[in-house]
Amino acid sequence: MLIDPYKRPVNYLRVSVTDRCDFRCQYCMAENMKFLPKKDLLTLDEIERICISFIDLGTRKIRITGGEPLVRKNVMSLFKNLGSYIKKDKLSELTLTTNGSQLERYAEQLFDHGVRRINVSIDTLKPKLFKFLTRRGDLDQVLKGIDKALEVGLKVKINTVALKETNEFELNDILKWAHSKKCDITYIETMPLGEIDVDRTDQFLPLSKVKETLSKEYTLKSSKYYTGGPSRYFSVQETGHRVGFITPLTHNFCELCNRVRLTCTGKLYMCLGQEDSADFTSAARSANWKIELKNAITEAISRKPKGHDFVIRRKHSPSVNRHMSVTGG
Ligand code: SAM
Ligand code: SF4
Repeated sequence: MLIDPYKRPVNYLRVSVTDRCDFRCQYCMAENMKFLPKKDLLTLDEIERICISFIDLGTRKIRITGGEPLVRKNVMSLFKNLGSYIKKDKLSELTLTTNGSQLERYAEQLFDHGVRRINVSIDTLKPKLFKFLTRRGDLDQVLKGIDKALEVGLKVKINTVALKETNEFELNDILKWAHSKKCDITYIETMPLGEIDVDRTDQFLPLSKVKETLSKEYTLKSSKYYTGGPSRYFSVQETGHRVGFITPLTHNFCELCNRVRLTCTGKLYMCLGQEDSADFTSAARSANWKIELKNAITEAISRKPKGHDFVIRRKHSPSVNRHMSVTGG
């Protein structure tokens, strides 16, 4: 079992398999986002070696993310191989965060490979606004993907970033829609990660305000439900489903942090909001990878910091220069 310097067990690995994406969500990327050269990316085999090494050190949960993970060529082979560790009871959960654009095509295979829960990001149910916010996404395609996922038996959680004056007045409706599909929903505050074209201070909507608006229509009861993640959950009496709030700018998720993040270039970030990282590339490429990765992972965890230092600033000075699509959201 991996234990960090603050005595927190680290048993959850998030893996960004690509920085590329078929969307350009305004809070996440610039319109002309420059992606990494393909040669800088780890191969899927190298990513798998790192995941296996984490599993051998007690990791119980792996989330595949990105960028958009489902646009990485052959990514299903990674799901298949990691899914075999669930079947061997060495891994409790293999999950995915996706924008849903390719879900209709892959939902069935994901289920077959052992995935049971996925997160789908959707910030608006208005087709025109969806296209505007994602700069190219097709809402209908994402909705079809969600329906397919539910049909094959995947549990879907909706992630919605709360954006001032953009989807602000639609947030109750999104909850209503999600709960009508028996999906829980989590609202997320924008985080200052990477340079974008718009001013983050213009986008920032505190979730305290969102909760206040929701409470006018719904009865929220504090829930003990806890996934080991940063979300604080409430059950909604009228619908029987849950709503979560991720408020990264407050420190309330750091003390229970059980996770680390691997980028598609082989760097491990021990905290989403700090620059310190460990590079696993040469260990993952070594003939002696099992031992080298074990040592590199143990050393990296001994450097996991206590928490982040996020502050929302003007557009040209993000708190952390990496985009969420690089570190993995
Ligand atoms: N492309 C996939 C998706 O959109 O779900 C996976 C990667 S995306 C980086 C993961 C999550 O991070 C999404 O729910 C997205 O809305 C969120 N996200 C991206 N940039 C963010 C930011 N600056 N602040 C808060 N959430 C962000
Ligand atoms: Fe792509 Fe996800 Fe970022 Fe949107 S939030 S641009 S879908 S990586």
